[in-house]
Amino acid sequence: MLHEIPILEDLDTRKLPYAETNGRRQVYLETYGCQMNVSDSEIVAAVLRESGYGLTRDAAQADVVLLNTCAIRENAEQKVRHRLDHLRAQKRKRTGALTIGVLGCMAERLRHRLLEQEQLIDLVAGPDAYRDLPRLLQETQETGQAAINVQLSREETYADIAPVRVDSNGVSAFVSIMRGCDNMCAFCVVPFTRGRERSRPFTTILDECQKLVEEGYKEVTLLGQNVNSYRDGKVNFAALLWRLSAAAPTLRIRYSTSHPKDCTDELLHVHQACDNVCDYIHLPVQHGNSAVLQRMRRGYTIDTYLHLIARARTICPGVSISTDIITGFCGETEAEHRDTLALLEQVRYDHAYMFMYSERPDTYAAKKYRDDVPHWVKKRRLTEVIQLQSSIALQNNQAEIGKVHTVLVEGNSRRSADQLRGRTDTNKMVVFDRQQYAKGQYAKVQITGCTSATLLGKAVEPA
Ligand code: SF4
Repeated sequence: MLHEIPILEDLDTRKLPYAETNGRRQVYLETYGCQMNVSDSEIVAAVLRESGYGLTRDAAQADVVLLNTCAIRENAEQKVRHRLDHLRAQKRKRTGALTIGVLGCMAERLRHRLLEQEQLIDLVAGPDAYRDLPRLLQETQETGQAAINVQLSREETYADIAPVRVDSNGVSAFVSIMRGCDNMCAFCVVPFTRGRERSRPFTTILDECQKLVEEGYKEVTLLGQNVNSYRDGKVNFAALLWRLSAAAPTLRIRYSTSHPKDCTDELLHVHQACDNVCDYIHLPVQHGNSAVLQRMRRGYTIDTYLHLIARARTICPGVSISTDIITGFCGETEAEHRDTLALLEQVRYDHAYMFMYSERPDTYAAKKYRDDVPHWVKKRRLTEVIQLQSSIALQNNQAEIGKVHTVLVEGNSRRSADQLRGRTDTNKMVVFDRQQYAKGQYAKVQITGCTSATLLGKAVEPA
């Protein structure tokens, strides 16, 4: 039987599975969007618990419902709006008071509309305002008025807050190491919702990872909007990985998400030299045509990008590479679209996150270009990209059959308690029969079959 397992980055909505009641005001926290938001929710949980709130997994029992939101695409915002409609209906039916708050990127972007025009919510807190949540909650409770803080900061990194890892599987953890983005890609709303780049002191990152090791974690994913532009004084991202690898040799290290311009030879050599820095790099190309990349303000051409891919494969043979693709960006011609298909054929990524362009207000593209590719054309091009990439991923996975990989077990397979799932060093999901293995252990697994998304295998010996 074939098993399709969504990989970690396919996050949608996460309902944090915790329960701490003890008669305190109860907060229910729901997370939308990327890993960075999951990590931010862990910080929010820590801030609220520290100031006396309880955490509940049941929205119906909560006194406060907070949605940690994403603004990257229009449909992500739509999903939150529908959820808010539902919550407001619940609020009307409730006898006790219910405070509804919006956190994160959407809070920053839509504060006026959410609060004033639509009067949907009681509290709005942007990504740099989480320390202020206890005060905001108190203010809205006391005054009955909406409370708001969407101030962006040039310094806030939450470096001193120990996250409450409420959604963790106990094996892999996220650690945010930098926030914000200075790149200003034409299509992207992140620099507006999350502000300027700033990095955490490297010592606090090493300490947090050390603590994770002591708690039994086996893998960490370092997070940032532009993670490989990390810098703390003389410690750049490559140096940070090097130090972390030496300080925590038993910890598998991954990171997300990077920009090609910051993927240096120095960083590639760290991948090659450090066994516990995974042989996997996400290098978002976004498009296969240099003129489109220029319109997108990505800062590289296809030639320089292909040169980088070749460097990565020379320095780290066997490295797995994934990417992001946008179809139907402003002015994209049929020939430009075909260049994206040609790029996929040439690079042969193991995985890609593929989307239709959706205009985000206030971005450079929204101000300077016309969103002129018809929806049906965007959709058709996206389908072509997805179909081609799926067949390439399947072929790449078929080439793994017979090989043996070291798999870190993350938990039960989603389809059967008799099977486990875990990931290879190269970030491929593997499903295999449980035998004597358990969550958090390493197993040597021989690959016996695959789909385009998942490898199937049989454990041959403990790793
Ligand atoms: S690098 Fe570009 S796409 Fe990525 S967060 Fe920054 S502006 Fe957005």
